[in-house]
Formats: sequence, C-alpha cells, structure tokens
Amino acid sequence: FGRLKESLTKTRQSFVEKIDNLVHRHKAIDEDLYEELEEILVQADVGVNTAMELVEKTRRSVKERRVDDAGELKAILKEHIREMLGTDTASLNITDETPTVIMVVGVNGVGKTTTIGKLAHYYKSRGAKVLLGAADTFRAAAIDQLEIWAERVGVEIIKHREGADPAAVAFDSLQAAKARRADLLIVDTAGRLHTKANLMEELKKISRVLGREMAGAPHEVLLILDATTGQNAVNQARLFGEAVGITGIALTKLDGSSKGGVIIAVKQALDIPVKLIGIGESLEDLRPFSPGDFADALFD
Ligand code: GDP
Repeated sequence: FGRLKESLTKTRQSFVEKIDNLVHRHKAIDEDLYEELEEILVQADVGVNTAMELVEKTRRSVKERRVDDAGELKAILKEHIREMLGTDTASLNITDETPTVIMVVGVNGVGKTTTIGKLAHYYKSRGAKVLLGAADTFRAAAIDQLEIWAERVGVEIIKHREGADPAAVAFDSLQAAKARRADLLIVDTAGRLHTKANLMEELKKISRVLGREMAGAPHEVLLILDATTGQNAVNQARLFGEAVGITGIALTKLDGSSKGGVIIAVKQALDIPVKLIGIGESLEDLRPFSPGDFADALFD
C-alpha cells in the first residue's frame, strides 16, 4: 500500500493538494468553490462530464447532510470518486480449462511489452507455466524486446520472423501452449496507429483465429493504456473497443503521471474494468487495481 501511495505522488500533488488548498482558502461552501473544484477535476484528467457529475454529486450530498464546513468536502468527494470507481476489484479471467489465453493490445510505447513481462513473472512465480506469443511481427524490435523479457522472466516464447502473419503466430502459439501444457498464453500484438484500419483488422483476425482454435479464446483482451497521456487514453480505449471486445484495462505509468484521474475517466466513459495498474519499471511493479485502495492512497 505504501508503494501505491508513493507511486501516486504526482497525481496527489496535482489533485489532492489543490483540493486541500481550495478548502483552506474558502471558509464557506459557495458557487466559487464548486467552480474551482470542477476546474481542478478537469485538470486532473477525470474528463469534463465526469468532473461535472462529481461536482453535482458532491453538491447534493452537501445539501442533504447540511454540511457547511468546506473542510468536510474532501471526504465527500472521496466517497463519490470511490463509488464511481466501483466497489469490486475485477480480476483477470483465468479459466479452468488451460491454457488461459490473454491477448494484449495497445498503442506502441504505452508499456505493452513491459506489462507482458510483469504478468508472465507474476504467474510464473505462482507456479504457472507461461508461454508468450510474439504476434507483433511489424517490427523486428518488438520481437526482440519480447524475447528479452521472456529470458529475464524465464518463460518460453513462440516467434516468427519480422513481417510474418500475426494471426499465424497466434495460431502457432496456441498450438504450442496446448502441446506443452501451458497454463497461460500471453499474445503480444502490434500497436502502430498510423495504419489504424489495418491494425484493427489484424487484431480481429488474431482474435478470430484464437477462438477457432479454442472455444472462448481469447479469454481476456487486455488493453494497455498509459496514464501519462490523460484523455488520449480514453480515446484509445474507444478505438480499440470498437475493433475487439476489450475485457480489461491495464493502466501503466501511474507512478510517472500527474493525470491519475484518467482512471476515473476511463471507467466512466467505457465501463470496462481497470484490472491492473503499472506503478514502475521493474518486474514487481504491477498491481491488481483495487478501487478502495486507490481512493485511500490518493486521498489519505
Ligand atoms: P510498448 O512499446 O508498449 O511495448 O512499451 P514498453 O513496454 O517498451 O514500455 C515503454 C517504456 O515505458 C519503457 O521505458 C518502460 O520501462 C516504461 N514503462 C512501462 N510501464 C511502466 C510503468 O508502470 N511505470 C513507469 N514509470 N514506466 C513504465
């Protein structure tokens, strides 16, 4: 929990400290205060609509509970943010029938490879047999990077040469995962966004091929989003969501971001659960996302 709180330092500074400052300056709860609060929320990247909604909810609670001390505002806001984030921790969909197939999607640079490495490490260290599939064949560097992580973690990888059909890599990876009795297959995919339509077709095809080879696969389509990109992350989620059915989100680089509020924006805009958060560059820096812990780490 300490690490989580520490990793949210930048977001705390850009968000909670401003709210502290706000309630200290305003003795009374008036329109000015609500306006400034909305502005702070927008700047923290929770999104304009969500900011308005949060202010509205706060306003209503203040009225209902006859609160007149600005100092109590923070607790009320925290309560509503926590409520918006959902009450339950959503975990990855790990199946009884093996292998569980996780397809990982996202734009280049968001931390896709790193997150795959962290995930592989997490499951391997808990005794699972993990296999990686290098279906981002667009860049040789992507295959190399994934291989470096596979070696670091000590798991096997299925790869073809650069330019090979990504769906063929996915197919071979699943065949190999079955033959080697792997518990978990994690399939990397390309993230070049300048050829959007092609990329989306490619992702659909990979998903189709996996599903044909094993009913229900991919069991999890994990979208990786970079918390430092703020509202861009929300747009990316919409885009990928239209192409493939996203079942969960991993939000990376929360540690380097002052825009942690985007986690609320993503939840509100898409209603896809944030399942994991990345809070650093090392293997251990991946956490299940808990709405309660997050709200506590942000506010307390
Ligand atoms: P990809 O292009 O999406 O595969 O991105 P990479 O996995 O190569 O990551 C891009 C950069 O982001 C690398 O320098 C990673 O170390 C860094 N990175 C990934 N996840 C995190 C995180 O949770 N926190 C921080 N601070 N850096 C991260």
